Amino acid sequence: MIHGDDQIHVDPGPGALVHSLNLHLSQLTLGAVLVSHCHLDHYGDAEVMIEAMTRGGTRKQGVLIAPRSVLQGNGNYGAAISNYHKSIVEATYEAKPGEIFKMRGMTIKPTRASHGDPDTVGFRFDFPGIGEIGYTSDTEYFNGISDYYKGVKLLILCVLRPRGLPWKGHISTDEATKIVEEVKPEAAVITHFGMRMIFANPSKEACFVEKKTGIKTFAAADSMEIQVAKGINVKKPGLSKSIDTFKR
Ligand SMILES: [Zn+2]
Ligand SMILES: [Zn+2]
Repeated sequence: MIHGDDQIHVDPGPGALVHSLNLHLSQLTLGAVLVSHCHLDHYGDAEVMIEAMTRGGTRKQGVLIAPRSVLQGNGNYGAAISNYHKSIVEATYEAKPGEIFKMRGMTIKPTRASHGDPDTVGFRFDFPGIGEIGYTSDTEYFNGISDYYKGVKLLILCVLRPRGLPWKGHISTDEATKIVEEVKPEAAVITHFGMRMIFANPSKEACFVEKKTGIKTFAAADSMEIQVAKGINVKKPGLSKSIDTFKR
């Protein structure tokens, strides 16, 4: 995520640095690495991104925000980041629902998630003058999940599976539809697709959510760019679409 001159990297999975460089994202502006939980697809390149953020450990730049499992380990999971990498950042913070982190005007709030790693969190970001963005991370549906994201402009959901194929610890398009309906963001993005989802065609699943909820919904794709300002502008190969701010 980029806000003005600041950049934060959320869930640096394997290849995060290489993909960032391919997108011409400068690591010099990286101010925070956020990891939502201790599964490889979310932390794989966390140490690599910390190396980039601190210029190989030569500058104490940027913060690391992650739950206990990632920072210290919690029995079954972790730790996923070495003491050395925790020592070279400006500060390390444990992400727990209810905490609030302020970073150069931005506010980051960890949200509750229900997933295999019991310390998993989602995030809610407040960018002043722009609005809020929610990211569910990996979670299954639970009562009250939508309360964590009410009022966000853009909601990003990790949707492993398509309609009719639920999977423990995750949401499928069915639960995603329910959450989008309850949260009523201006737009939603579904991401984190498993093979069943790929075979079902994520764009079709996004269309289903949009049809059911009346909320613009997009399937994430590599190199997709989402600009959140007065409206929301989504750019991906073959698609460039502006969405007017919806009236609530
Ligand atoms: Zn996971
Ligand atoms: Zn995952």
